[in-house]
Amino acid sequence: MQLKPIVVCGLLSAASLAAGQTIGSLFKVNLDNDEAGGCSERSTLLAQYLQESKDLATAGLQAITHAQDSSAAQHDVAKRYLRAYFGVGENDATALALIKGSLQKVSNFLSGTTLDNTPRLYCNDNWLKKRARTDIARDIEGNDIWTMDDNGQQHLLAIENCDQYRHLFWDYDEDQMIWIKNERIPYWSADLGQYLVDDDYDGQTFCTVARGANMGTTQHMTTPPTITLCQGSFSEPGYSVKLGSKSPLVGQRGGRKLTDVLPRSATLYHELFHLVLGNDPTPDVTYLWVRQQLLLENPDEIITEAYKDKYDEIEILPTSIYGMTRADAIRHNPESYVFFSVGYWYFMQTTWSNGDNSQRWSFHSGVSQMVQIP
Ligand SMILES: [Zn+2]
Repeated sequence: MQLKPIVVCGLLSAASLAAGQTIGSLFKVNLDNDEAGGCSERSTLLAQYLQESKDLATAGLQAITHAQDSSAAQHDVAKRYLRAYFGVGENDATALALIKGSLQKVSNFLSGTTLDNTPRLYCNDNWLKKRARTDIARDIEGNDIWTMDDNGQQHLLAIENCDQYRHLFWDYDEDQMIWIKNERIPYWSADLGQYLVDDDYDGQTFCTVARGANMGTTQHMTTPPTITLCQGSFSEPGYSVKLGSKSPLVGQRGGRKLTDVLPRSATLYHELFHLVLGNDPTPDVTYLWVRQQLLLENPDEIITEAYKDKYDEIEILPTSIYGMTRADAIRHNPESYVFFSVGYWYFMQTTWSNGDNSQRWSFHSGVSQMVQIP
């Protein structure tokens, strides 16, 4: 796949991401109907979510720019955001480069920098059909897969025993140096002509297992990779209908929690980090602001298997973050970028400044408060 040239800009202005790419140009997506993960009914919302994702990536990058520019009016506040949301200390160039790089890659994708394969976008999970591991394997055209034994006899192959899919159903144990059968279930995509594997979800599916439990998911098992947005991501009442549709004020005062103003577009924005950076470098360490803050209380502590917070509750964390410092784990966590970008976006707005644009509502502590910028 040919890569488009990357336009390198010193500063990404809001205008530079305002127009251009559409959902249909960034993703292969069915906007004609709602069959098998189609997005016809959601097309207007998707256009909005895409624009808001662009605005959020721009806001996140603006925070980095302001933090690096000591002459910027927003400099002090931007540094407070980086400390509170990512545990970035003074002159921590490595951490800053990691965060900036993550935001930049998402921003580049939204600006039209292509991935190796145009990703698919689905608006529910019924583009996948659950199968048994022992069902007859199909090839990319959907035809049964046959094999020939030593006696020249033709046999149909079970999905889990088929060479091209075997790695999905067996995990290599490095200590014992053997392959061990896992518990995963195959799901067939007629659209892609490929299987992926996932949990059984108690006989349900990822999006239907419990109302509001899962909002979206990104996977790289298939080529191309896919983003699936569940029903909840379009209708969850706990999230703002639009970015900024909730005021940062409670009555005439601040005191609004950041987690009360997250928009519904946050699911797409979150999934973009998994898509563009890969799932392994973006473990879902936590979706909770309070848990993020607990981890950042001891930013340099190494995470081990039996992570406990200060309430001595054992939290199951993704195994891929064992050995990382707590702060480093948070810097890989997609939801941290959601918090950071939404929080800084609010700080950049003058809608609630009451005519004095130097007065801004800031979420640098996680709760809105008025700050005066010079
Ligand atoms: Zn995630």
